[in-house]
Amino acid sequence: MDFYFPDSQDQVDPCFDFVNDEHRPFHVRQRDDRYAHEIHDEPPYDGILISKTMVDGYGTGGRYTAAQRHRLYRLGVREFFRLPAGMKVIGDCGAFSYVAEEEPPVTVSEVIDFYETLGVDEGISVDHAILGYNEACDRNDEPTPEDWIDRQAITLERAADFFAEHRERNCSFTPMGAAQGWSPCSYADSVQHLQELGYRRIALGGMVPLKSIEIIACLAKIDEIRDPEVSLHLLGISRPEHYATFHKHGVRSLDSTSPFRQAFKDDKDNYYTSSRNFVALRIPPSDSNARLQGRIRAGKLDQATVRAAEDEALRAVRAYDAGTGSLLEAVDALRAYEILHDTKGRDRSATYRDFLEVKPWAKCPCAICREWGVEVAMFRGTERNKRRGMHNLWVFNQKLQGQKPARRHPKPKRRQRESA
Ligand SMILES: [Zn+2]
Repeated sequence: MDFYFPDSQDQVDPCFDFVNDEHRPFHVRQRDDRYAHEIHDEPPYDGILISKTMVDGYGTGGRYTAAQRHRLYRLGVREFFRLPAGMKVIGDCGAFSYVAEEEPPVTVSEVIDFYETLGVDEGISVDHAILGYNEACDRNDEPTPEDWIDRQAITLERAADFFAEHRERNCSFTPMGAAQGWSPCSYADSVQHLQELGYRRIALGGMVPLKSIEIIACLAKIDEIRDPEVSLHLLGISRPEHYATFHKHGVRSLDSTSPFRQAFKDDKDNYYTSSRNFVALRIPPSDSNARLQGRIRAGKLDQATVRAAEDEALRAVRAYDAGTGSLLEAVDALRAYEILHDTKGRDRSATYRDFLEVKPWAKCPCAICREWGVEVAMFRGTERNKRRGMHNLWVFNQKLQGQKPARRHPKPKRRQRESA
């Protein structure tokens, strides 16, 4: 199972000054900052997934400045990302950012141009996401919304054009057909249609909100018609506990930002270990935290008191880590600052105590924890939060590799037929 990390230009500055919370003078992002595959000893993923809407910008997508975009087009994806040999790249359209439109705002030719200019290894056909799932439609218990049927038809039409144009232009990347559906039968219909068009790689989209049992039901239905030579990619799905089942059903790759994003988006699962996840220590930077600043301006909080509590939390946590301060002192300092910064009145003392007691960052062998240790445990600013995300990617990939079939290198050029 190959794991792809979707790009959203997440890098860290290896020279960031954690004592003063600032970049060094003359810091240049493109030159100095590093991707997760450069920070770790070994890349924590098999490849990256790059979306056209992320690069060119559309709706909610778009993370590239004009300068970065030009640089990417000029250098190609391998040189731009400084990818090590063997790392693969999947291109996609980023259908979710235009999900509100009636039709995809990109043409098949534009998308093929994008893939060819960047030099991706595999390119996914133009698709239109279906926002809904209802197995009752398969039993005719409930009518299928018109909009879902239209979106599936659009996706399959574009896939036919994409395959034809790919062949006509003699493109160098492998075409991957996008399958959209709303139930096991509708996904299976899409896959059947795509393999009849000639696709040997098929990406299943729109499954992110589905329960695992629903994903597996779709895969089982697809298996009834799937040509054994056809392998599947799951878009946006991690769920490592189901890899063996996914693999049995012909899934050979997937992509997900979850391990990375949970580091700073999740309420609880911020710091991964092989056995469990922990809540990171919230020490927001008071001078750039909008909520704190707002309450200081409104006269509800005193700037000096806030600053002192923040400094004390940082000091106490670092002292505990260094063995010069006590656990209780660190928990108390975090709590004292939490009373000021947490507007929802939460008390995370028990979970902080738990995390501090275990000190997993001191034992983690990944390059991030070795180098930055306790700083990664703090939920504070993008440099720490992204590092924790990169640590999570590493842990996630270790778990995944543990469940991978023994042979990893060299990989067969053509996917092997599955022996049941
Ligand atoms: Zn680590």
